[in-house]
This record gives sequence, structure tokens and C-alpha cells, in this order.
Amino acid sequence: MKLAGLQKLTLLDYPGEVACTVFTQGCNLRCPFCQNPDLVLPELFAAGEASLCEGDGAGSGNTPEGSLLSTDGPLPEETFFDYLERRRGKLSAVVVSGGEPTLHRDLPAFLSRIRDTGYLVKLDTNGMRPEVLERILDEGLVDYVAMDVKNSPGKYALTCGLEQDAEDAAAGPEHLAAAAMERASAAEGGERAGGLWERAKRSIDLLKGSPVAGEFRTTVALGLHTVEDIKEMAVCLAGSRPWYLQQFVAGEGLVGAFSGKDLKLASPSREDLEEMKAAAMEYVTHIALRGV
Ligand code: SF4
Repeated sequence: MKLAGLQKLTLLDYPGEVACTVFTQGCNLRCPFCQNPDLVLPELFAAGEASLCEGDGAGSGNTPEGSLLSTDGPLPEETFFDYLERRRGKLSAVVVSGGEPTLHRDLPAFLSRIRDTGYLVKLDTNGMRPEVLERILDEGLVDYVAMDVKNSPGKYALTCGLEQDAEDAAAGPEHLAAAAMERASAAEGGERAGGLWERAKRSIDLLKGSPVAGEFRTTVALGLHTVEDIKEMAVCLAGSRPWYLQQFVAGEGLVGAFSGKDLKLASPSREDLEEMKAAAMEYVTHIALRGV
């Protein structure tokens, strides 16, 4: 695993647990509201060789304040495990975040090794690699999964900061050949299959159907999300999993600023979020606001 950094203590990122968060490097999306360009954009990575198995970049846009990102190259895996050993009895859980952890080929082995130390494990993911998520759930490698659900289906590519043409690259090389075939048959049938939303939906359904604990979460930004979008998402997320609407916080240095696309995003007010939450409650019973 190529680890970009470690937040040594968090009381916020694993429900009910005292945890640390380890950040993986690289992401397959470019969400314009992402606050972690250092984890997402290869040109900003600290020196070191990337270990991504595929995709084009880093993960989940949720680096908490005060995280300790490595500035002199990747964090050695053994340093991370030494830290866990020293914090035994003081921490109860590890959050594996990004970037997008599922891009890393050795993620299953990494998760397994953490679990062997006795810590609970939470995975943060954008859900773009459902085949990896399925394996992790099936093999019982995590105790909790938090999945980002970016927006309603029609706005998925826009919210992920990708052009439609770039969608297939997000799934990795093995997807490209299949996607080319899909496009050919979709062109014949007048529609396109296998895009970002389709992969997100597969991951949503996997998480819904798994006994592993988990949550969905959405960073809400005015300029990207409307009440109608939230309602449309709520229909897809209906079920027993909690869904958190997180307030986008405008600021400098977001991933969108590097892409040169000015989407004129703004932070929703509490009232905006309450209106969205009320609209979603018809379908999702456990929905809450974060960051307001
Ligand atoms: S917010 Fe988007 S770009 Fe940032 S790490 Fe998460 S998935 Fe990647």
C-alpha cells in the first residue's frame, strides 16, 4: 500500500469508536468540491512512487482537519503498523480512507492485516469499483463501510468532475475493453451502459444487501445539488442504511480549482439542507445532517 499519511486520533470518523485514519494516495474521480488535492492529483503527491493498480489518480474527499499527511514521501507501511502496536488499548478502530483505497491492488491484504491486529476496520470509498467492494464484503475484511453517493444519476459525471469520455478510465484498465464493447452495443441500442452511476448503483446495492454495517454520505453543494436531486437519490438509497448530508464548505485549493472549471459552488445553509432532508425522508428514514 502507498500510504499518504495518518491522522493519529479521530473521534468523528468511526461511529462510536476511538480511531485513527490512514490515507491512501490516488483517486479515480475529480470531484470539484474535494478538499484533498494532495491525495487526488498526482502532480501534488509527495515524492514517492505511486502504487496504484489502476485508475488515474486518489479517493473520498474527507480528510479531517489536523491530519498528518506525509510531506517527504509515502508513509511506510511498517511505520503505520508500529503505530497501531503502540496504541493498542487506546484506539479501537482504524479508518482506511483516501484518496480512493479500492484502487490499490493490495488493499484486501492490508485490511486483513489490520484486522489481525484486533482493531475494527472502516473503509471509506466512492463506490467506483464495486467488484473490489464485493470481495471485501464477502471476505469479511471490514466492520464498517462509508460510501460516497455523489448525486442523482443524471449529474453523476459532472459531480465527479469527469467528462463522460473519462468515466471508463475511473473503473480501471480491465474495464476499458468491456466498456468499449458496451459502447458499441449501446450505440446500437441507443443508450450507454456501464458509466459512473451504474457502478455507484452496484456498490449501493452491495452495501444494502450486506450484513456489514455501513452508511451512505453525500457532500451537498449549491450549484450541484437541488432538492429534486436529493429526492431522486433518496429513492435509490431507500432502505435501512443511514444517509448523511454533509455541508460543502467553500474555500481555496479545492480539486475543482485545479481543473479550471468554475462551477460556482456555494455552501448550503442549514435551511437548505433541512429542506433536502425533509424531501428525502419520504424514502429514507435514517437521514441526518453533518457539518452544520
Ligand atoms: S471527494 Fe472525490 S476526488 Fe476527492 S477523494 Fe473523494 S472521490 Fe476522490
